[in-house]
Amino acid sequence: MFLLAENARKHVPQGSGSRGTEPVHGGNRKHPRTVLVDPQGYGGSDRKGDHPRPCGHREGTAERTSGSGCPVIKRALVIGGGIAGIQTALDIADAGFEVDIVEKQPTIGGKMTQLDKTFPTLDCAACILTPKMVECAQNELINIYSYSEVDAVSGFVGNFSVKIRKKARYVDETKCTGCGLCTEKCPQKKVPNEFNLGMDNRRAVYIPFAQAVPKVATIDADARC
Ligand code: SF4
Repeated sequence: MFLLAENARKHVPQGSGSRGTEPVHGGNRKHPRTVLVDPQGYGGSDRKGDHPRPCGHREGTAERTSGSGCPVIKRALVIGGGIAGIQTALDIADAGFEVDIVEKQPTIGGKMTQLDKTFPTLDCAACILTPKMVECAQNELINIYSYSEVDAVSGFVGNFSVKIRKKARYVDETKCTGCGLCTEKCPQKKVPNEFNLGMDNRRAVYIPFAQAVPKVATIDADARC
């Protein structure tokens, strides 16, 4: 899912992984602004009329009407940090706009991280994917909300509010270096490894795989010793 929101601001700290729901606001209810793109035609979803119409917004379409006079702060939210979300974020960032990626897993990369070769060229999946993952992490215009989920999207075209729930890693992301020492020492060794589809086990504190982005340990609260 891809939203082109405006005025969205960074609200969820990348830090300690606290539980909670954080709003990301797009636009301003008093002065809603115009959106540029709504390829699926969801524009004008305010059917009950209980919200003001975005300036310059034509009823029932996502077209920007000319001469609205409303400034647009272009910023995007990409839901899902698989290869499609990563490429989308990189393209938007390359165009000079800020992007937020929300990924429910502890790392971005999605299913492609589990592949060996890609059809039809039999290119190495990791050789394609991992440089893009690193590029995402290093790009100043891209914010990655890993281990997070979108709880709600409200508002209307040009004026979105998004609630992002950041799940607890029980590890301080700002301090973890990804050294793996905690994984090595963890006594719980019998947790089915999702990355390998349960064909082997991982520890209760784990980093999904060596090239994970962000490379930060996560404590699986459901895995009891
Ligand atoms: S990987 Fe584990 S031991 Fe290493 S810095 Fe992170 S939390 Fe600490």
